[in-house]
Amino acid sequence: MPSPSRLRAPFRTAFHALIGLLYPERCQLCLANHARPTDGLVCADCRASVIPIRPPACERCGLPFQGALTNGFTCPNCHDLVPAYTRARSAVHAKGSARDAIHLYKYHRAYWLEPFFSDVWVPLAVHDLGSERWDGIVPVPLHPVREREREFNQAERLGRLLGSALHIPVRKDLVIRSEATSTQTRLSRDERARNVRRAFAPVAGLSIPNTRWIVVDDVLTTGSTTDAVARVLRSAGAEEVVVWTVARGV
Ligand SMILES: [Zn+2]
Ligand SMILES: [Zn+2]
Repeated sequence: MPSPSRLRAPFRTAFHALIGLLYPERCQLCLANHARPTDGLVCADCRASVIPIRPPACERCGLPFQGALTNGFTCPNCHDLVPAYTRARSAVHAKGSARDAIHLYKYHRAYWLEPFFSDVWVPLAVHDLGSERWDGIVPVPLHPVREREREFNQAERLGRLLGSALHIPVRKDLVIRSEATSTQTRLSRDERARNVRRAFAPVAGLSIPNTRWIVVDDVLTTGSTTDAVARVLRSAGAEEVVVWTVARGV
């Protein structure tokens, strides 16, 4: 059977739909092993290959490091450009089956993967956030044009998984995406930060003093996107903003 990741996008969607019909209980990542819908159709082998983020990591942005580091370490990026969020954390590395799952979810509306994200992500986030008071979750907004193309915003759906576990609302009515940023992967960190900061704005008249928010996205890479959203919330008066993403690209 061909590896689904080698297929072009439209074929891949059709391929997965067909596989789902032919083998309803097959892992949708490796297409080899048995998997149950209650496990997000991700088999035990694919789950075992997910790499959790472990310390040591930058105290601010959560960037993991090799080797032993003392407590209170902040990475050079966070020294150069102090983020608007207090801390950013992710559950797993954006590699292998975690990366494939996010890709499938985001570009092919693979909602059936949500039990998998709930398992690998939500308990860690709840462990980190559960003892504090939060006013709600702010999913990183997609530009309306892109949301129409994609037919959903993955950050918003992931935010709902976490919001229901924490019993807090998901607020997509605070920050708007005023510009669709082009693909960011080829840009330097500074270019990316500059580009992305222009892309988000508060809704007219937003004033949210003494509030605390969790910004949610699927993947954090340089952190410039989530930082831009945090900056909007802070400039509208938010007392604290933290970031939680499923995966961390390094
Ligand atoms: Zn599998
Ligand atoms: Zn850092």
